[in-house]
This record gives sequence, structure tokens and C-alpha cells, in this order.
Amino acid sequence: MSLGDRFVPGELQEFIPGDPFWPPSPEGVASSYAKSLSPPGSLVLIPFSLSPLLPLELLDSGYKVIASSFNPLPILSLKALHNRGEDFISALTHLEDAPRGEKLLRHYLQSLYLVECPGCGELVEAEFFLWEGQTPAAKAVKCPKCGTAGTFPLVPTDLKPLENLKEKGPDYWYVLARLFPPGEVSPPEAEELPLVYTPRNLHCLNAIFVKIEALFPEKSPQGLALKTALLGAMHLSLSLYPSPEFRGRPMRLHPPPRFVEANAWKAFQVAAENLRRFFRPLPMVEPEEFFQKDKAPALLPVPWGIKKLEGEIPPASASLLILEPPPLDRAWWALNFLWAGWLMGYQAAYPLRPLALKGVFGWDWYEETLKRSLLKLKGLLKPDGFALFLGQDIPPVMAECLVLAGAKAGLRPESFSFRERDTRLEIRLLFSNPSSEKVWPVVGRREEETVEEAILEVLTYSGEPLTPTLLRLAVEWWLSSRKPWAWGDRKRGEFRSFLEEMLSSLLRENRLKPWAEGELLGLPQYPSLSIPLSDRAELEVYRLLREKGLLTMGELEELFYASFHGPLAPKSDFLRECLASYGEETEGGWRLRAEDEPERRAKDQEEVKAILQELGEKLGFQVKEGARDPFDVIWEEKEASGRPLQLIAGLNFGFVVESTAALTGFFLRHFSPPFPRSYVVIPGGRASLVWYKLKNMPLWSSLKGWQFIKYRHLRRLAQEKAPDRYSLQKIIGLDPVVERPGAQLSFM
Ligand SMILES: [Zn+2]
Repeated sequence: MSLGDRFVPGELQEFIPGDPFWPPSPEGVASSYAKSLSPPGSLVLIPFSLSPLLPLELLDSGYKVIASSFNPLPILSLKALHNRGEDFISALTHLEDAPRGEKLLRHYLQSLYLVECPGCGELVEAEFFLWEGQTPAAKAVKCPKCGTAGTFPLVPTDLKPLENLKEKGPDYWYVLARLFPPGEVSPPEAEELPLVYTPRNLHCLNAIFVKIEALFPEKSPQGLALKTALLGAMHLSLSLYPSPEFRGRPMRLHPPPRFVEANAWKAFQVAAENLRRFFRPLPMVEPEEFFQKDKAPALLPVPWGIKKLEGEIPPASASLLILEPPPLDRAWWALNFLWAGWLMGYQAAYPLRPLALKGVFGWDWYEETLKRSLLKLKGLLKPDGFALFLGQDIPPVMAECLVLAGAKAGLRPESFSFRERDTRLEIRLLFSNPSSEKVWPVVGRREEETVEEAILEVLTYSGEPLTPTLLRLAVEWWLSSRKPWAWGDRKRGEFRSFLEEMLSSLLRENRLKPWAEGELLGLPQYPSLSIPLSDRAELEVYRLLREKGLLTMGELEELFYASFHGPLAPKSDFLRECLASYGEETEGGWRLRAEDEPERRAKDQEEVKAILQELGEKLGFQVKEGARDPFDVIWEEKEASGRPLQLIAGLNFGFVVESTAALTGFFLRHFSPPFPRSYVVIPGGRASLVWYKLKNMPLWSSLKGWQFIKYRHLRRLAQEKAPDRYSLQKIIGLDPVVERPGAQLSFM
């Protein structure tokens, strides 16, 4: 496998910018896997299609693509891209200039959001409103006439557009009626659905919808595109966001006590503008033609569930499955049911009903359902074909379900890589469809032994302690791919408790050790030859900058992950910190900072050691250079010489002179410093990276006793006429006293 376990980052593309429900899709990932795994012209099947952008890159690489989902909205959005920019613009103008009562639609919708500008008193369109409970409390204004901008309290005029709008007015009943067949009484769970919008936004969105329906035939390309833009506006104008900056995913369908009422009319225009970027001719064909057609590329977008796919697609015909894991999130499904019914009618929304309206589905259900789907999909896959899970913003437990469901469905895990982003994961998980069962699965060894081996190997590979979540995921992966492990019908929960037991027993036997106050699990000792993953990552960025000259963040990621194998890929914000620490941004990319040229750094380190020598003597210490591990320079109290070691140690100063922040391995070996006054001396340029590690890496956050000093402060101290021990105190730390305002004078 040419891609091995490397993480392919891709370039993030937002289909609807700012939409938490539709996370950015990493462009270039699916196609790079496809190119290395299946011949051009072969069939790629996307059975849980989510991002409309993903099929496009596969078409561009010359594949036949089936994009399918039981959720009709991603399919609607994909079809909508088959458009021409100029046709869309004229359709948009046609819509906006359509009459609505005595006004044009655009003027009518604008009037819903007019407020009084607190600067000039003119009526202007509000950017958004802030609600407190049941009423709007503030308006955000950016006045084009006088330039006034900000958030202001409402005045009576601002409430005028709301006069005729009720919470359950005609729009509410209209939308609700579209979700169910005529005559069916809507269940109570459904009645809250349209209330995810304020009456004003519901009215605005519905006015746009009704007009699109009236003006454009149902399947016209322009009609589909306008509905897709409207879907974008529906995403962005929910009453579920507590602040305009909030980018999280709402977990509940009830508006929070304080929420943002977006300007849905503006949101529609923004969504329409964004959509235009993706228009292009698509080689779309009907099913009959698709299967007869030999020539690639061709696209078949269909709103089919797995069962229907199984019935319509010839067995063993796809050479690659690309799986975007469906979210397990009732809010998401309920909203999709609402949007699908509203935009496309109750029949289209029907498959989403159980997920949207029925009780709670847990992760065990998810894993089981996914396993069953994969068993069916496996039948559509060629022997020795591949299945790739591509997840951008998924919880670790979902990744666990994917690994286990795939392995239990008889797919063979081939490679796995993931990286953390906050508490979520980006994953690339590749399975193959084994043509024979000869080595898979094989049992016979004691399970305990195999799991133990997995734990120890994963920890040895990482070279540093891991959070239990990452450790568990890496172990499950290892068991699935590196050793024949029979999952059988074992439930995830059962396996978890088995693993927990194994971890506890290894801890009891002191073969594992809790680190960082129990936040991490690791080996008891890390020999100096093992380099932790995070240190390797930092040094790799440094190497790439030295050897490659100019690099953009995207190029860096590309090169970095190409040489960095294994399931635990470093986060991209970590890489960005490393890049910012060793590089400087110029036109066209990042290049190595002059002071980080290796010769210069070596010279600096020697100079700093010499300064420490000289300074120690000036301050009346007996100085020992390179006296013992781990210090480069030690200052001993003179009068202490000859006294027992433990007494001396309390008075000594120890210095480690470093040029990088790749110190995790060092700290693992010297977690508690030998002297109470132990310092790591670093270049000032490394300070923000050290700061990042102290804040984000549990091992670093739990360090006690080690302190940092910057090179330049030592240099300045050495230049003082009569430095004393008090002035030394002032230069300790990443944010030393000497750098704080007001402290400079006394020091100079
Ligand atoms: Zn104004």
C-alpha cells in the first residue's frame, strides 16, 4: 500500500461557510486514495454521501462515481452544482425582482429586517438581532449611510416589522404540513421543529421558498440551485446559536436563553454567492445509461438507501467505497427531516423520519447498524477492492465504532491515521475486501497476551504517554490490523472493560505508569533512544524548513504527513505553532528564520554556556560545566563544597541550554528536576511554542520545578556591571518580570 498509515490532510473547503452542521471537507484526500488504490475509469461508490464537493474531485480524476444517500439533501445539493454561473444569476434576479404584494420580493424581505440607525436615524437593514428569552433585545447595525457600527438596544420602530408575525402563524402551519402526507396528524415531536426559527426568519425563508416553487419547474437546474442556496440560509438562520461567533454544533433543538437571530435574507444572499463558486457542468446520467456506459467520468447522484443500492448496483462492481460516516445526532437528523420536507416534500423526507422523530439511538446501535450496512456494501465491492472512511469532525467513540464495525463486517483494516482537533478527530481509515479468508481471522493465542502486546507496542511507538482515549483507539486499530484478532460478536462495551482490566493489571505490575496526574498512561521509563512522537514532529518541521526553503502551511502538511506514518498524527495547530516558531512568513510562504540556521544555533548555545560560566563566577558560584546529566552548567555554592550531596543540591542552580522545544523526551527522563533551581535556557523565538506545549500537552502542564530562561535575558544580565542574584530572579520564566511594563528601567 503506497499510502501506508500516513495521514492525508487535504485542503479544507467549506461548502457553506460558517455552518457547523456541514464541516469543511478535505479536498484532495479521496482522490489521492483513489489514485493509488483503483484504476482510472473504475467505479467509486459513495454510499453515505454528505459533502457535495467530494464526488467532484473523483470525477476530475477520471472515475465513474455513484453518490448516494438516504438523506435527499446532499443529493439535491450535488445536482444543483450542475449549473452555469450566468444562468444562476439571472434566476436569482428573476426571483428577487418577483412581485410580493405591492413590493418586489427583495424589498419586501429587506423590510422585515429594517431598524433605526442609532447614528443617523435612517432605516437600515440589521445584520442580526440578539434575543433574550421570548423577545429581541438588541440589534447589530453596520450603517452604510453614516458608518455607525455595533450592537445597540432596540427602539419601538425596530419592532414594527414583527407586528403581524405570530409564533405559530400561517408559515408555521405551512411548513409543518409539508412534512407529512395529507391527512396524517403530525406527531408532537414534529411540532417543535419549525420553532427552530424566529417567526420573522421562518416567514422570510418560507417566502423565498414559495416564490421559488412558483417560478421554477421542480427539476430545473436553476430551481435546484436556488433551493440549495435556501438550504444554506436555513442552516445559517437557526435560533440555536448563543452568539454570532459560536461555531459549535447545537445539541438541542430549543433556542438557548440568549440567541442570535440571523438576518435570513442576508444569509440567503451570502449562501447564493458562495454556491456560485462550485458551479460546473457535471457528467450526470440516468441509472440505465450509467451502468451501460463504459466511459468515465460519469456521475450518478441518487437518494438511495443501502437496500436500494444493493438491488440496483451489480454485485462486485465497485472498486472503491468512500464512506463519510453518518452523524449520530438527533438534532442533525431532525433538522434534515425538516429541511428535506420543507424543500422537497414529505415523500423525500420520509426515510429520515425514524432518526428524526424516534427516541434515542446509542453507539451500540450505531455500530450494529453500520456493520449491517457494511456487510451489504461488501457485496457490491470487488474482491480486493477498498473501503475508505473519511471523517472530519467526529467524536473518538465514533471512530471506535467504525474500526470495529468494519472489522466485524469482514473487511480487513489496512491503514488508519487520525489527528485530534480539540476533542474531535479527523480520520482516514482504510479497509480492504479480502478475496480469501485464509488468514483472517486467526485465533489461538491467549487474548490477554495479544492485548498486552498491543498496548505496549502502541506506547513504544508513540514514545510518550497517551490519553486513555487515544490509547484505546490505537490499540483497537492495532488489534484489527496488525494481529489477527477475532472480534466475533463482542460488544464495544465488553471489549472496553476487558481493555480497562488489562490496563489496570499492567499498572499494578508497574509495567505502565500514570503520568500527568493520571491524565495520561505511559511506560514507566523512556530510554534516551526513544524519541517521542511530538518531538519527532517538531524536529521534522524544522528539518523541512531547513531543506525545502519556502513552504506554505498546505505544502508543509503535505510533506510532513508523507514522512510521518502511524495512526497518531500530530494536530495541525501544533504544526502551525512549530512553523511559526522556526519560520518567518514572507511572500509566498514560510522560510527558516535566520537565527535558526543550525550553525548559528550551535554558536549561540556555546555562547550561552560561556555566559553562564562567566555569570556564575561573577555571582560567586563555583561553576561546573557539563558536570553531570542532565545539566550543561551547574552553579554550586562555594561554601557548600565538601558538604553532603543532598545539602548541596538544595542550593545549586542547574542549567540546560537548548535550541529547540523538542523536550518531551527530556522531561520524560527528568520529570522531577534534580535541583529546586533547574532551568531550561531557550531562544526567545521558542517561547511561544513552549507556551503552547505547557498549555496543551498534559505532560508539560503537569511539570513541576522546571523553569525557562530566554537567551537574550541572560546576555543582557551578563552585560550588567554588577549583576546580583536578585537580578537573576527577574529574568526567569517565559514572561519574566523584566518583560513586564515598568520593570525595564530598574533592570537597564
Ligand atoms: Zn446611520
